[in-house]
Amino acid sequence: MDNILPLAIDGQELTKPIIISGPCSAETEEQVLQTARELLRAGVKIYRAGIWKPRTKPGGFEGVGVPGLAWLHKVREETGLKVSTEVANRAHVEAALEYDLDMLWIGARTSANPFAMQEIADALREDGRDIPVLVKNPVNPDIELWIGALERLYNAGIKRLGVIHRGFSTYGQNLYRNHPQWRIPLELRTRYPQLPIICDPSHIGGKRELIASLSQQALDMGFDGLIIESHCNPDCAWSDKNQQITPEVLSVILDNLVYRDTPVPTESLAQLRRQIDQLDNELIDILAKRMNISREIGEYKKTHNMPVVQPGRYGDILNTRIRSAENAGINGDFMAKILSTIHEESVRLQVALSGKPHE
Ligand code: PEP
Ligand code: MN
Repeated sequence: MDNILPLAIDGQELTKPIIISGPCSAETEEQVLQTARELLRAGVKIYRAGIWKPRTKPGGFEGVGVPGLAWLHKVREETGLKVSTEVANRAHVEAALEYDLDMLWIGARTSANPFAMQEIADALREDGRDIPVLVKNPVNPDIELWIGALERLYNAGIKRLGVIHRGFSTYGQNLYRNHPQWRIPLELRTRYPQLPIICDPSHIGGKRELIASLSQQALDMGFDGLIIESHCNPDCAWSDKNQQITPEVLSVILDNLVYRDTPVPTESLAQLRRQIDQLDNELIDILAKRMNISREIGEYKKTHNMPVVQPGRYGDILNTRIRSAENAGINGDFMAKILSTIHEESVRLQVALSGKPHE
Protein backbone atom coordinates (compact mmCIF):
# COMPACT_ATOMS: atom_id res chain seq x y z
CA MET A 1 0.00 0.00 0.00
CA ASP A 2 2.58 2.58 -1.02
CA ASN A 3 0.24 4.95 -2.80
CA ILE A 4 -2.47 5.73 -0.26
CA LEU A 5 -4.07 9.05 -1.23
CA PRO A 6 -5.30 11.76 1.15
CA LEU A 7 -8.93 11.59 2.25
CA ALA A 8 -10.95 13.86 -0.03
CA ILE A 9 -14.60 14.43 -0.88
CA ASP A 10 -15.63 15.93 -4.23
CA GLY A 11 -11.98 16.51 -5.03
CA GLN A 12 -11.43 18.49 -1.84
CA GLU A 13 -8.93 17.23 0.68
CA LEU A 14 -10.30 16.95 4.23
CA THR A 15 -8.58 19.40 6.53
CA LYS A 16 -7.12 18.21 9.81
CA PRO A 17 -8.20 17.58 12.46
CA ILE A 18 -10.94 15.70 10.61
CA ILE A 19 -14.05 15.88 12.79
CA ILE A 20 -16.93 13.51 12.10
CA SER A 21 -20.04 13.47 14.25
CA GLY A 22 -23.64 12.32 14.31
CA PRO A 23 -25.82 9.74 15.98
CA CYS A 24 -24.87 6.14 16.58
CA SER A 25 -28.04 5.23 14.65
CA ALA A 26 -30.40 7.01 12.34
CA GLU A 27 -33.72 6.58 14.15
CA THR A 28 -36.25 8.93 12.56
CA GLU A 29 -36.07 11.55 9.84
CA GLU A 30 -36.67 14.26 12.43
CA GLN A 31 -33.85 13.03 14.73
CA VAL A 32 -31.41 12.76 11.81
CA LEU A 33 -32.18 16.25 10.51
CA GLN A 34 -32.40 17.92 13.92
CA THR A 35 -29.02 16.51 15.00
CA ALA A 36 -27.49 17.60 11.67
CA ARG A 37 -28.79 21.18 12.04
CA GLU A 38 -27.32 21.41 15.55
CA LEU A 39 -24.00 19.95 14.42
CA LEU A 40 -23.79 22.48 11.62
CA ARG A 41 -24.06 25.22 14.26
CA ALA A 42 -21.29 23.46 16.23
CA GLY A 43 -19.01 23.77 13.19
CA VAL A 44 -18.99 20.09 12.18
CA LYS A 45 -18.59 19.37 8.45
CA ILE A 46 -18.93 15.60 8.20
CA TYR A 47 -21.99 13.76 9.45
CA ARG A 48 -22.20 10.14 10.51
CA ALA A 49 -25.21 7.90 11.20
CA GLY A 50 -25.52 4.13 11.36
CA ILE A 51 -28.23 2.79 9.04
CA TRP A 52 -27.55 -0.93 9.50
CA LYS A 53 -26.60 -1.65 13.11
CA PRO A 54 -24.69 -4.79 14.01
CA ARG A 55 -25.85 -5.75 17.51
CA THR A 56 -24.28 -8.28 19.83
CA LYS A 57 -27.61 -9.97 20.52
CA PRO A 58 -30.74 -10.30 18.39
CA GLY A 59 -33.71 -8.28 19.53
CA GLY A 60 -31.84 -4.95 19.83
CA PHE A 61 -32.45 -2.09 17.43
CA GLU A 62 -30.86 -3.21 14.17
CA GLY A 63 -31.14 0.00 12.20
CA VAL A 64 -33.74 1.58 9.95
CA GLY A 65 -32.14 0.31 6.73
CA VAL A 66 -32.50 1.92 3.30
CA PRO A 67 -35.07 4.64 4.26
CA GLY A 68 -32.35 6.15 6.45
CA LEU A 69 -30.20 6.74 3.37
CA ALA A 70 -32.83 9.12 2.01
CA TRP A 71 -32.66 11.04 5.31
CA LEU A 72 -28.88 11.35 4.99
CA HIS A 73 -29.33 12.57 1.43
CA LYS A 74 -31.70 15.20 2.80
CA VAL A 75 -29.13 16.23 5.44
CA ARG A 76 -26.67 17.02 2.67
CA GLU A 77 -29.26 18.90 0.61
CA GLU A 78 -30.41 20.99 3.54
CA THR A 79 -27.19 21.60 5.52
CA GLY A 80 -24.34 20.97 3.10
CA LEU A 81 -22.77 18.54 5.58
CA LYS A 82 -20.95 15.61 3.96
CA VAL A 83 -22.64 12.35 4.90
CA SER A 84 -21.26 8.93 5.81
CA THR A 85 -22.48 5.57 7.05
CA GLU A 86 -21.27 2.08 7.92
CA VAL A 87 -21.43 -0.71 5.33
CA ALA A 88 -21.10 -4.38 6.13
CA ASN A 89 -21.86 -6.20 2.88
CA ARG A 90 -22.30 -5.79 -0.89
CA ALA A 91 -25.98 -4.79 -0.65
CA HIS A 92 -25.11 -1.99 1.81
CA VAL A 93 -22.39 -0.66 -0.48
CA GLU A 94 -24.69 -0.65 -3.48
CA ALA A 95 -27.49 1.09 -1.60
CA ALA A 96 -25.17 3.70 -0.05
CA LEU A 97 -23.67 4.50 -3.45
CA GLU A 98 -27.09 4.73 -5.03
CA TYR A 99 -27.91 7.47 -2.51
CA ASP A 100 -24.62 9.13 -3.32
CA LEU A 101 -23.10 9.10 0.17
CA ASP A 102 -19.81 10.97 0.50
CA MET A 103 -17.83 8.55 2.64
CA LEU A 104 -18.20 5.01 4.01
CA TRP A 105 -16.79 3.24 6.99
CA ILE A 106 -16.36 -0.42 7.82
CA GLY A 107 -17.39 -1.48 11.32
CA ALA A 108 -15.22 -3.39 13.77
CA ARG A 109 -17.11 -6.67 13.34
CA THR A 110 -16.85 -6.47 9.57
CA SER A 111 -13.16 -5.58 9.28
CA ALA A 112 -12.49 -8.79 11.25
CA ASN A 113 -14.23 -10.79 8.50
CA PRO A 114 -12.19 -11.30 5.31
CA PHE A 115 -15.19 -12.70 3.38
CA ALA A 116 -17.25 -9.58 4.05
CA MET A 117 -14.26 -7.34 3.32
CA GLN A 118 -13.67 -8.97 -0.06
CA GLU A 119 -17.34 -8.63 -0.98
CA ILE A 120 -17.29 -4.93 -0.04
CA ALA A 121 -14.04 -4.37 -1.96
CA ASP A 122 -15.49 -6.06 -5.06
CA ALA A 123 -18.67 -3.97 -4.91
CA LEU A 124 -16.60 -0.78 -4.66
CA ARG A 125 -14.34 -1.84 -7.52
CA GLU A 126 -17.35 -2.50 -9.75
CA ASP A 127 -18.78 0.92 -8.96
CA GLY A 128 -15.43 2.55 -9.63
CA ARG A 129 -15.98 5.90 -7.94
CA ASP A 130 -13.35 7.75 -5.96
CA ILE A 131 -14.96 7.48 -2.51
CA PRO A 132 -13.02 7.62 0.76
CA VAL A 133 -13.37 4.60 3.04
CA LEU A 134 -12.43 4.38 6.72
CA VAL A 135 -11.72 1.00 8.28
CA LYS A 136 -12.35 0.49 11.99
CA ASN A 137 -9.98 -1.79 13.83
CA PRO A 138 -11.22 -5.36 14.23
CA VAL A 139 -12.71 -6.13 17.66
CA ASN A 140 -9.68 -8.27 18.52
CA PRO A 141 -6.22 -6.69 18.79
CA ASP A 142 -4.84 -8.12 15.56
CA ILE A 143 -2.96 -5.55 13.49
CA GLU A 144 -2.48 -7.95 10.56
CA LEU A 145 -6.24 -8.48 10.29
CA TRP A 146 -6.71 -4.70 10.26
CA ILE A 147 -4.08 -4.29 7.55
CA GLY A 148 -5.58 -7.20 5.59
CA ALA A 149 -8.93 -5.40 5.48
CA LEU A 150 -7.20 -2.26 4.18
CA GLU A 151 -5.25 -4.24 1.57
CA ARG A 152 -8.43 -5.79 0.16
CA LEU A 153 -9.83 -2.29 -0.42
CA TYR A 154 -6.53 -0.95 -1.74
CA ASN A 155 -6.20 -3.84 -4.19
CA ALA A 156 -9.72 -3.06 -5.40
CA GLY A 157 -8.56 0.45 -6.32
CA ILE A 158 -9.74 2.30 -3.20
CA LYS A 159 -6.80 4.57 -2.53
CA ARG A 160 -8.45 7.16 -0.29
CA LEU A 161 -8.17 5.12 2.85
CA GLY A 162 -8.14 5.97 6.53
CA VAL A 163 -8.57 4.05 9.74
CA ILE A 164 -10.67 4.48 12.85
CA HIS A 165 -9.26 3.38 16.17
CA ARG A 166 -12.25 2.30 18.32
CA GLY A 167 -10.48 0.13 20.87
CA PHE A 168 -10.46 -3.63 21.41
CA SER A 169 -12.78 -6.01 23.24
CA THR A 170 -11.67 -7.31 26.61
CA TYR A 171 -13.19 -9.74 29.03
CA GLY A 172 -15.04 -8.48 32.10
CA GLN A 173 -15.85 -5.07 33.51
CA ASN A 174 -13.33 -2.37 32.65
CA LEU A 175 -12.96 1.38 32.74
CA TYR A 176 -13.22 1.40 28.96
CA ARG A 177 -15.89 -0.22 26.84
CA ASN A 178 -13.13 -1.15 24.40
CA HIS A 179 -9.55 -0.99 25.58
CA PRO A 180 -7.52 1.60 23.63
CA GLN A 181 -4.22 -0.37 23.42
CA TRP A 182 -2.70 2.75 21.86
CA ARG A 183 0.43 0.97 20.74
CA ILE A 184 -1.52 -0.85 18.03
CA PRO A 185 -2.64 2.27 16.11
CA LEU A 186 0.78 3.78 16.76
CA GLU A 187 2.42 0.75 15.18
CA LEU A 188 0.10 1.15 12.20
CA ARG A 189 1.28 4.76 11.95
CA THR A 190 4.92 3.62 11.90
CA ARG A 191 4.17 1.08 9.16
CA TYR A 192 1.95 3.36 7.02
CA PRO A 193 2.85 6.96 7.87
CA GLN A 194 0.58 8.35 5.13
CA LEU A 195 -2.54 6.55 6.46
CA PRO A 196 -4.82 8.97 8.38
CA ILE A 197 -5.83 7.70 11.83
CA ILE A 198 -9.06 8.90 13.37
CA CYS A 199 -9.91 8.16 16.99
CA ASP A 200 -13.38 7.07 18.10
CA PRO A 201 -13.47 8.04 21.80
CA SER A 202 -17.19 7.21 21.97
CA HIS A 203 -16.71 3.49 21.36
CA ILE A 204 -13.42 3.31 23.28
CA GLY A 205 -14.83 4.95 26.41
CA GLY A 206 -18.46 3.92 26.17
CA LYS A 207 -19.26 6.82 28.53
CA ARG A 208 -19.83 10.52 27.92
CA GLU A 209 -17.40 11.53 30.67
CA LEU A 210 -14.45 9.87 28.95
CA ILE A 211 -14.84 11.54 25.55
CA ALA A 212 -12.92 14.75 26.24
CA SER A 213 -9.85 13.13 27.79
CA LEU A 214 -9.64 10.33 25.21
CA SER A 215 -9.92 12.90 22.42
CA GLN A 216 -7.08 14.94 23.89
CA GLN A 217 -4.91 11.86 24.32
CA ALA A 218 -5.49 10.94 20.67
CA LEU A 219 -4.57 14.42 19.46
CA ASP A 220 -1.47 14.40 21.66
CA MET A 221 -0.42 11.18 19.96
CA GLY A 222 -0.72 12.80 16.57
CA PHE A 223 -4.04 11.32 15.42
CA ASP A 224 -5.54 13.04 12.38
CA GLY A 225 -9.09 13.40 13.63
CA LEU A 226 -12.00 12.29 15.78
CA ILE A 227 -15.32 10.57 15.18
CA ILE A 228 -17.67 11.32 18.07
CA GLU A 229 -21.25 10.15 18.47
CA SER A 230 -23.81 12.91 19.05
CA HIS A 231 -27.58 13.00 19.26
CA CYS A 232 -30.18 15.78 19.62
CA ASN A 233 -31.59 13.88 22.62
CA PRO A 234 -28.93 11.42 23.85
CA ASP A 235 -30.88 10.09 26.83
CA CYS A 236 -33.53 8.76 24.48
CA ALA A 237 -31.15 7.30 21.87
CA TRP A 238 -32.12 3.87 20.54
CA SER A 239 -28.51 2.62 20.70
CA ASP A 240 -25.35 3.54 22.63
CA LYS A 241 -27.09 6.22 24.69
CA ASN A 242 -24.48 6.26 27.47
CA GLN A 243 -21.79 7.49 25.09
CA GLN A 244 -23.74 10.00 23.01
CA ILE A 245 -23.58 13.73 23.70
CA THR A 246 -25.53 16.70 22.42
CA PRO A 247 -24.02 18.78 19.61
CA GLU A 248 -23.79 21.60 22.16
CA VAL A 249 -21.60 19.52 24.50
CA LEU A 250 -19.57 18.40 21.50
CA SER A 251 -18.92 22.00 20.61
CA VAL A 252 -17.61 22.71 24.14
CA ILE A 253 -15.36 19.62 24.00
CA LEU A 254 -13.96 20.60 20.60
CA ASP A 255 -13.33 24.17 21.76
CA ASN A 256 -11.38 22.97 24.79
CA LEU A 257 -9.12 20.54 22.94
CA VAL A 258 -5.54 21.58 22.42
CA TYR A 259 -4.49 21.03 18.82
CA ARG A 260 -0.72 20.73 18.89
CA ASP A 261 1.47 21.03 15.85
CA THR A 262 3.64 18.03 15.13
CA PRO A 263 6.41 18.34 17.69
CA VAL A 264 9.90 18.74 16.29
CA PRO A 265 12.25 16.79 18.54
CA THR A 266 14.67 19.15 20.27
CA GLU A 267 18.00 18.30 21.86
CA SER A 268 16.43 18.24 25.34
CA LEU A 269 13.79 15.83 24.06
CA ALA A 270 16.52 13.66 22.55
CA GLN A 271 18.26 13.62 25.92
CA LEU A 272 15.11 12.55 27.73
CA ARG A 273 14.63 9.81 25.16
CA ARG A 274 18.15 8.54 25.77
CA GLN A 275 17.33 8.31 29.47
CA ILE A 276 14.20 6.31 28.64
CA ASP A 277 16.25 3.96 26.44
CA GLN A 278 18.68 3.47 29.29
CA LEU A 279 15.93 2.79 31.83
CA ASP A 280 14.19 0.34 29.51
CA ASN A 281 17.41 -1.62 29.25
CA GLU A 282 17.70 -1.68 33.03
CA LEU A 283 14.11 -2.88 33.30
CA ILE A 284 14.85 -5.74 30.89
CA ASP A 285 17.91 -6.64 32.90
CA ILE A 286 16.00 -6.72 36.16
CA LEU A 287 13.17 -8.74 34.65
CA ALA A 288 15.64 -11.30 33.31
CA LYS A 289 17.17 -11.63 36.81
CA ARG A 290 13.73 -12.04 38.34
CA MET A 291 12.77 -14.73 35.85
CA ASN A 292 15.98 -16.64 36.55
CA ILE A 293 15.24 -16.68 40.27
CA SER A 294 11.70 -17.73 39.51
CA ARG A 295 13.11 -20.67 37.53
CA GLU A 296 15.27 -21.65 40.52
CA ILE A 297 12.19 -21.57 42.76
CA GLY A 298 10.45 -23.75 40.19
CA GLU A 299 13.27 -26.31 40.44
CA TYR A 300 12.95 -26.28 44.21
CA LYS A 301 9.17 -26.80 44.10
CA LYS A 302 9.61 -29.64 41.63
CA THR A 303 12.18 -31.41 43.79
CA HIS A 304 10.00 -31.02 46.87
CA ASN A 305 6.81 -31.94 45.08
CA MET A 306 5.16 -28.60 45.85
CA PRO A 307 2.38 -27.02 43.73
CA VAL A 308 3.53 -24.18 41.48
CA VAL A 309 0.95 -21.62 42.62
CA GLN A 310 0.56 -20.63 46.25
CA PRO A 311 -2.29 -18.13 46.30
CA GLY A 312 -1.48 -16.69 49.75
CA ARG A 313 2.02 -15.77 48.65
CA TYR A 314 0.79 -14.08 45.49
CA GLY A 315 -1.83 -12.06 47.42
CA ASP A 316 0.89 -10.81 49.80
CA ILE A 317 3.18 -9.85 46.95
CA LEU A 318 0.37 -7.97 45.23
CA ASN A 319 -0.69 -5.96 48.27
CA THR A 320 2.74 -4.93 49.49
CA ARG A 321 4.04 -4.10 46.01
CA ILE A 322 0.99 -2.05 45.09
CA ARG A 323 1.34 -0.09 48.33
CA SER A 324 5.02 0.61 47.67
CA ALA A 325 4.24 1.60 44.10
CA GLU A 326 1.54 4.02 45.23
CA ASN A 327 3.96 5.52 47.74
CA ALA A 328 6.34 6.11 44.85
CA GLY A 329 3.62 7.93 42.90
CA ILE A 330 2.75 5.05 40.56
CA ASN A 331 -0.88 4.25 39.79
CA GLY A 332 -1.95 1.14 41.76
CA ASP A 333 -4.03 -0.36 38.92
CA PHE A 334 -1.11 0.00 36.56
CA MET A 335 1.18 -1.73 39.06
CA ALA A 336 -1.37 -4.53 39.57
CA LYS A 337 -1.42 -5.16 35.80
CA ILE A 338 2.36 -5.33 35.60
CA LEU A 339 2.59 -7.69 38.57
CA SER A 340 -0.09 -9.96 37.24
CA THR A 341 1.66 -10.19 33.85
CA ILE A 342 4.98 -11.00 35.55
CA HIS A 343 3.29 -13.55 37.77
CA GLU A 344 1.62 -15.21 34.80
CA GLU A 345 4.98 -15.58 33.07
CA SER A 346 6.63 -16.97 36.22
CA VAL A 347 3.87 -19.55 36.56
CA ARG A 348 4.27 -20.47 32.91
CA LEU A 349 8.00 -21.02 33.39
CA GLN A 350 7.54 -23.07 36.53
CA VAL A 351 4.77 -25.19 35.02
CA ALA A 352 7.00 -25.89 32.03
CA LEU A 353 9.70 -27.07 34.46
CA SER A 354 7.39 -29.26 36.48
CA GLY A 355 6.19 -30.82 33.24
CA LYS A 356 2.58 -31.08 34.26
CA PRO A 357 -0.31 -28.70 33.55
CA HIS A 358 -1.45 -26.50 36.38
CA GLU A 359 -5.14 -26.01 36.98
C1 PEP B 1 -20.68 2.57 15.30
O1 PEP B 1 -19.81 3.33 14.86
O2 PEP B 1 -21.80 2.93 15.63
C2 PEP B 1 -20.33 1.15 15.54
C3 PEP B 1 -21.23 0.18 15.46
O3 PEP B 1 -19.06 1.01 15.88
P1 PEP B 1 -18.09 -0.27 16.01
O4 PEP B 1 -18.10 -0.94 14.66
O5 PEP B 1 -16.81 0.41 16.34
O6 PEP B 1 -18.61 -1.13 17.12
MN1 MN C 1 -22.45 3.34 18.30
